Amino acid sequence: MPLLPYKNFSSKLKMIKDGELSLRENVEFFLNLINKNKHLNAFNFVFADEAKEQAASIEKKINSGKHGKLAGMIVAIKDVLAIKDKPNTCSSKILKDFKAIYNATAVQRLIDEDAIIIGKTNCDEFAMGSSNENSAFGNVLNPVDTQRVPGGSSGGSAAAVAANLCDVALGTDTGGSIRQPASFCGAFGLKPTYGRVSRYGLTAFASSFDSIGPFANCTEDAAAVIEVISGWDANDSTSTKKPVPSFQNLNLDGKKLKLGYAKEYFGEGLDPEIKASIENIFKKLKQSGFEIEEIHLPHTEYTIAAYYILTTAEASSNLARYDGARYGYRSSDSASLLEMYKSSRSEGFGSEVKRRIMLGTYVLSAGYYDAYYRKAQKARRFIKQDFDDAFKKVDIILTPTSPTTAFKIGEKTTDPLEMYLSDIYTTSANLAGIPGISVPITKSSKGLPIGLQLLANQFNELDLLKMSYYIQMNIL
Ligand code: GLN
Repeated sequence: MPLLPYKNFSSKLKMIKDGELSLRENVEFFLNLINKNKHLNAFNFVFADEAKEQAASIEKKINSGKHGKLAGMIVAIKDVLAIKDKPNTCSSKILKDFKAIYNATAVQRLIDEDAIIIGKTNCDEFAMGSSNENSAFGNVLNPVDTQRVPGGSSGGSAAAVAANLCDVALGTDTGGSIRQPASFCGAFGLKPTYGRVSRYGLTAFASSFDSIGPFANCTEDAAAVIEVISGWDANDSTSTKKPVPSFQNLNLDGKKLKLGYAKEYFGEGLDPEIKASIENIFKKLKQSGFEIEEIHLPHTEYTIAAYYILTTAEASSNLARYDGARYGYRSSDSASLLEMYKSSRSEGFGSEVKRRIMLGTYVLSAGYYDAYYRKAQKARRFIKQDFDDAFKKVDIILTPTSPTTAFKIGEKTTDPLEMYLSDIYTTSANLAGIPGISVPITKSSKGLPIGLQLLANQFNELDLLKMSYYIQMNIL
């Protein structure tokens, strides 16, 4: 953090306006740092020349006072979001040579407000994973401890922000892929309400779960980004027409938010050190006058099962389009069309993606549909109902983001179930479509970041960010 001469984006913009910071030098600074940190493998692609050109022209705009809201913000984009004429690989061999032909809406909105796109970040293949070990581009290393994973699937975005390789980054969160890597790397990570941000130009993993959101080193920057990328888009019929509030004022201004605590999120499997640090935050919040009420989320035990049944079902259908005929990789030595489909998919997809396609095909198959898919849909409804009931009593629910701190590279790769369990506290927000943020609160005795997750009701990102800001300013 002290590497940068500014504490957040708005102070950066002011420094540029006041002539105290050159945007071109700032871009050079990030590009240098990206180069020095190549070993982290956070980026799949870096757009050095374009970023420098952009810096020069946006600096002019700033000087003439005709600039966008995010003028000069240096942004990295997860390699599942389309940027026109740039590779869109999803960290998969199957899309290795595929280039996007248009901008994702979230990307376009950043560009329209004069943000500078510095590169595309590494991630788990098709955003499937919790450790960034499922990438055709290789692992990403956690900048805090390079023996460890950065979390996943948006591991490159989290690592890039935590290592100061950009101001902010976009990630995607289908079951925790923004919040969990944010907590592993010590960054803020915001998953908005489902439908708040258009998914147009996002390569689909599980369409009824996927959300796009920012990683940042402070609440203010996450707020600035979400304000710009949110809102209705004619190209995504699931995007909401609800108005986007201003996220400029993050002060509570005397507003008393009611906080909730759910025992179900503090049970077996939670690292005692994480539990103790969150209890410590509770204590400080109470001392500051907050009420923390116990609430119940009784269907929590079904979240992992429901999540992995429903998302694999959606993924198996979404990934059917990669057949070697229309997109990306095509196997060269096939005797027939069917053979070509088979070998392109067998050679192009990595093993975790194949596992999910098989699981998803199975839970949707005739005879098993009722036992798995339909049942999981019902569980999803109950989980949503739990949150509806809870948010009648409280405004924000506080939980750990992840049951553990960042684990060692290779530690969980042989046991997929163990890996899936690292999503135990994050998948519920996607099942219920509610927003959540991971706030870096402290470090463990081994120096590893610990994240606190805040959850709010649908479309209540404002209170979520206000609470995050309060904790950032007054509790940490
Ligand atoms: N780790 C979860 C999974 O593997 C979440 C992924 C995500 O949010 N994209 O499915």
